Amino acid sequence: MGLRRSGAPAIMTAPTLNARATRGLHVITWGCQMNVYDSARMGDVLRPLGYSPVDAPDQADMIILNTCHIRDRAAEKVFSELGRLRLVKESRKEAGHSTIIAVAGCVAQAEGEEILARAPYVDIVLGPQTYHRLPEMVARAARAGGRVIETEFPAEQKFDFLPESEAPQTPGNLTAFLTIQEGCDKFCSFCVVPYTRGAESSRPVASVLAEARRMVASGVREISLLGQNVNAYHGEGPDGTPWGLARLAYALADIPGLMRIRYTTSHPRDMDAALIAAHRDLPQLMPFLHLPVQSGSDRILRAMNRGHTADEYRDLVRRLREARPDLALSSDFIVGHPGESDEDFEATMALVRDTEFALAYSFTYSPRPGTPAAGAGMQVPEDVKNSRLQALQQLLRQQQDAFNQTLVGQTVPVLFTGTGRKPGQIVGRSPWLQPVHVLGQPALIGQEIMVRITERLTNSLGGIVEEEKEYA
Ligand code: SAM
Ligand code: SF4
Repeated sequence: MGLRRSGAPAIMTAPTLNARATRGLHVITWGCQMNVYDSARMGDVLRPLGYSPVDAPDQADMIILNTCHIRDRAAEKVFSELGRLRLVKESRKEAGHSTIIAVAGCVAQAEGEEILARAPYVDIVLGPQTYHRLPEMVARAARAGGRVIETEFPAEQKFDFLPESEAPQTPGNLTAFLTIQEGCDKFCSFCVVPYTRGAESSRPVASVLAEARRMVASGVREISLLGQNVNAYHGEGPDGTPWGLARLAYALADIPGLMRIRYTTSHPRDMDAALIAAHRDLPQLMPFLHLPVQSGSDRILRAMNRGHTADEYRDLVRRLREARPDLALSSDFIVGHPGESDEDFEATMALVRDTEFALAYSFTYSPRPGTPAAGAGMQVPEDVKNSRLQALQQLLRQQQDAFNQTLVGQTVPVLFTGTGRKPGQIVGRSPWLQPVHVLGQPALIGQEIMVRITERLTNSLGGIVEEEKEYA
């Protein structure tokens, strides 16, 4: 069952680990989609030890808190959640049950020693690159007094050691995440990722395609490829040469039954001509691209170490829209990076006006210890950051509403993924990621159906089923 490299050591230590039949596993996931994927894979790794998911922490023999370091006060939020989990552990102990508490993800990577020191009830601290070693860590933690910290970047690639996912994500899921690339070598001034997730690395093509085929065989119809820099993907191909994301997308598009392919998060610098051409050629590649720009000021883009100018971004968007005229864009913005003047902020507003985003995430800059911008002078006062953020978000909201409004009256393909909240309602996603509600038969779930959009709601669309579209 394993995907071990030949000659590499096995990760499970003792056969007794398999002995117990059922143990509850409760995973709390914070942060990005990559964490969602990682949490699912931690479940896969622990399944052979008898762990299966439970909804409530007080039913769990093991609780994993999978953390995110991107947001402000990330470590404090982790310690406050751990305080809550400590109470769960204590009351389970009174009832005669032991509980392993593990902290995973990027806060674990960055603050591992601190977590062990401040939270003595935590048994395991593991970074994002070591969760393939979880069974061994559980065995060590189970020994009296054993506490485990694994936050180094191991020489072996974790993907080579993970078991095959038996049921990718949740069984019955029509959409799934698939991590193909991790880490980052770009060192943007504000970002912790290169420090917490390590150097950029890509999974081999064969392993990605095999996992995608398993997902499709289990019923998945839409795959979102994940990576901190997903379009920097350069996995080893079956021929021994590195394949870029475009070539991988063409190969994925050949998998029968895979209707939709998405990928996130892309860096403008890695958006090459081949990938733009893939958007032109592959109907399976959805016409929605998350392409963070962060700022529209060349001065700030330089200070951020982003490696492109605002006009280069505009030109890239033009080429993408030429290749795929219905392409919609989303982005990330940071306002109040050290040194950002009113003029710089205005340049961001100008770029937003020129580009017209369908969706966007925007944040005030918050210093991350150890990153270059955190130690820089010219920090922008909080009230200035907040008023800039408000202005930006108002403009972005207008653009999102305007984009959604353009779909009203159009007929668009919707992949139905489940039932809605109201009786008789089913929900799905448009190619541009908006949730779409219609009144329809549950039998349509799992199919891509043409829907006439009749109304725009705050964060979704309403419509009427027009006709069924056959898929090979
Ligand atoms: N790799 C992606 C890129 O290059 O655009 C971004 C990944 S980052 C994990 C997700 C988003 O978090 C960033 O695009 C940025 O907008 C935001 N972010 C990261 N560090 C931040 C910080 N120190 N303060 C505010 N926002 C931050
Ligand atoms: Fe962080 Fe993205 Fe910059 Fe890498 S490219 S350092 S992940 S913001």
